[in-house]
Amino acid sequence: MNKRLFAATGIQGLLIETGASHPAMLTVPELEAVSEIPCETVARLEVIAESLIPTATSAPDLIQRLAAAMDEAALKGRGFKSIIAYRYGLDFDPERPTPDEVSACIDALLVERDAGAWNGRLADPVLMRYLIWEAIDRARPLQFHVGYGDSDINLYRCDPTRMTEFIRRTRTSGSSIMLLHCYPFQREAAFLAQVYPHVYLDTGAAMAFTGFASDSLIRESLELAPFGKILFSSDAYGLPELYLCNVALWRRAIGRIFAEWVSEGVLGEKDAERYIIALAHGNAERVYSL
Ligand SMILES: [Zn+2]
Repeated sequence: MNKRLFAATGIQGLLIETGASHPAMLTVPELEAVSEIPCETVARLEVIAESLIPTATSAPDLIQRLAAAMDEAALKGRGFKSIIAYRYGLDFDPERPTPDEVSACIDALLVERDAGAWNGRLADPVLMRYLIWEAIDRARPLQFHVGYGDSDINLYRCDPTRMTEFIRRTRTSGSSIMLLHCYPFQREAAFLAQVYPHVYLDTGAAMAFTGFASDSLIRESLELAPFGKILFSSDAYGLPELYLCNVALWRRAIGRIFAEWVSEGVLGEKDAERYIIALAHGNAERVYSL
């Protein structure tokens, strides 16, 4: 069943963000075997830190082990993801935290941990900013969860224009800023992708929730963002049906939009085909060096 559903998607390569793993879910090698689709990975920053904090002996120890883990993730994977939108908001301080600030935060966290009061979730904005800047130093695509999420989030703080100053400061860093999902801020994300050369967006997760109404949000993402700055994402998680449903919804929307433009004579068929290929996978292959 998995194989049939994956084959029907037409997907030829998967980029899996591994931070949302669950004991009931397949591991990446298992997914690769079942789907027969090559998989590459993206590492979630908060999960890297959360896996090291329980055994850290001091602030310098944690900083050193984080650096090693990030180097390894940069080498093995295709990028990083931050969920600071969930844990804090995208209105985080755009300044890189100082070494003293980072050490003080880790010291406080280790005291909390030793008292049995730490819940295992990284939510300290200073440490999350530290991880974000560490990822920027490694000049890899850095994904940000943007917009729609569960009841943990304050949606108004997940508007990507709230991180405009951070985006401005990372312009020449060599990292690409990938704005994921974006609903209902697809227009704001498209604006950022238009004006900053290293910003990209997708409307992935939104499709799973907006269903047959999703052509309007895909249409809005295409208003301002250049065709080279928008990526397809299924945002599928756990169930193979989600990959197929989201591919089908995206194809339906993109097909309608481009057919309309071609029929009105604003685009030639060959150009439409070229743009659709870029949106479907070409842009992703380029940005993530797949
Ligand atoms: Zn996300």
